[in-house]
Amino acid sequence: MELSRTALYKSAFGGCDLPPEPDAGGGSIRQAVKDILPLVNKPIRYTGGEYNILIKEPEDDTLFFALIMPDVYEIGMSNYGLKILYSVLNQNNKIIAERAFAPWPDFGAQLKAKGLPLYSLDSKRPLKNFNILGFSLQSELSYTNVCYILDLAQIPLLSQDRTETDPLVIAGGPCCVNPLPVNRFIDAFVIGDGEEVVLEIVSAFRNWNRKNRSDLLQSLSKIKGVYVPFLHPSNPTIKKRSVATLDERNFPYPPIVPICEITHDRLTIEIARGCTRGCRFCQAGILNRPLRIRSKEEIIRLAERGIRSSGWEEISLLSLSPLDYPHLTELVSALQQNLEKRMVAISLPSMRGEKFSPELAQQLSYIKKSGLTFAPETMSPRLRAMVNKDITEATIIDAVKSAKSFGFSGVKLYFMIGLPGETEAEVAAIADFVETIAQITKNGLVRFNLAPFMPKPHTPLQWFGFESVETIKQKIALIRQRLHRKNLKPKWDNPEACMIQAVLARGDERLNDVILKVY
Ligand code: SF4
Repeated sequence: MELSRTALYKSAFGGCDLPPEPDAGGGSIRQAVKDILPLVNKPIRYTGGEYNILIKEPEDDTLFFALIMPDVYEIGMSNYGLKILYSVLNQNNKIIAERAFAPWPDFGAQLKAKGLPLYSLDSKRPLKNFNILGFSLQSELSYTNVCYILDLAQIPLLSQDRTETDPLVIAGGPCCVNPLPVNRFIDAFVIGDGEEVVLEIVSAFRNWNRKNRSDLLQSLSKIKGVYVPFLHPSNPTIKKRSVATLDERNFPYPPIVPICEITHDRLTIEIARGCTRGCRFCQAGILNRPLRIRSKEEIIRLAERGIRSSGWEEISLLSLSPLDYPHLTELVSALQQNLEKRMVAISLPSMRGEKFSPELAQQLSYIKKSGLTFAPETMSPRLRAMVNKDITEATIIDAVKSAKSFGFSGVKLYFMIGLPGETEAEVAAIADFVETIAQITKNGLVRFNLAPFMPKPHTPLQWFGFESVETIKQKIALIRQRLHRKNLKPKWDNPEACMIQAVLARGDERLNDVILKVY
């Protein structure tokens, strides 16, 4: 697959120059932004010009599509879905897709003070001059940032106030399975895999006569997997869209290499999408069904291409449950042989410990020692059975011992607190277990995270309530009191923020007013 494009701008590694001024509506902004940059923290967030970005010359019939993450650059640029859509859209010569992120308040205040509209990072085109703005809603806590971005972009916040000259505002991502809390801000929601639907939305926009906005919404509502609040009743049944297979089309190429440190700063290859485990609290497991697996041969080929075109020193094999990948040991072994000379590390996201074999530990240990992560969630057999997570203490201990014998020193563990009916003894068991792990790793750091159980829509546990903030704080305190070893490093999610997120996750249309008021 080779991207066809009219122009490609590649900045040098570590460079921070703005890209060449395009003839795309970004010229005047470019100079104004240069004046603002010395006045703000981390100006690199606003320059663009990363290695492998695409700057295309627009033609008369070019459609402009802004991909927007309502979060700061470092987090937004770590999102894999954004990169897939950037690649899928830009493969079409008649579409220019560019990126935008939520600026930090210092930069936002400068834009406001100077009356400048928020712009795309790639060509500095004002967002209000795009045809379509596509928000990726990854966390309910970013809802107010949608308002913030629309406001900075000088676009009406509410769908009902937008006219034929305003961009179409759509949204996708996991939060869209309950779009009601933000359905007055967004014109249309995509439910399911965005890359499966996005070109149909572009077609509907192209076929629109630009006279009556409701005609456009009408044609969008006919696309399978699209929810249009203006036309659909408040509780419609929308069938999600899913890509049938993982192939080259959903591999972001060429990979954009950021010029500052981001949260996930490495080449990511999605080895599988979906998970068949059926943990009852897990929204991602439900939303990403069915399981789709990328072939081992293709992963090896893409890894080679991705590393060659990016220079990254680490590959992350992305999947909800990577140890369930059918040929993981062979895959890691083949990757290790191919990439050994380049000293490229291989890392895996959170894993279920029972499939972490000594062979896999050996393969991973050959190159750089990436950290290992496990998500036992709870140490109570009763709660484990309730949430359908059948991992045992013994399997995690064996996995950690195995990893340690091959030179892995650090471990990261994820737990939930506040599961329905959880007792004090079950909370204390978490502390006792991490003490045991810390004893095994000796000086190796054991980091662990405590996240309050959050009932999410479309999961079997969605009808349970969220534990009170006070009780969650007491449970965190109980665990901390029982910790003794110096190599333990606990972290916990902010209980108040989690409570707000839980409300937004399962709330209805009435939250639109709340979000607007809070913003
Ligand atoms: S928690 Fe992990 S293993 Fe369980 S369903 Fe979700 S992704 Fe799968």
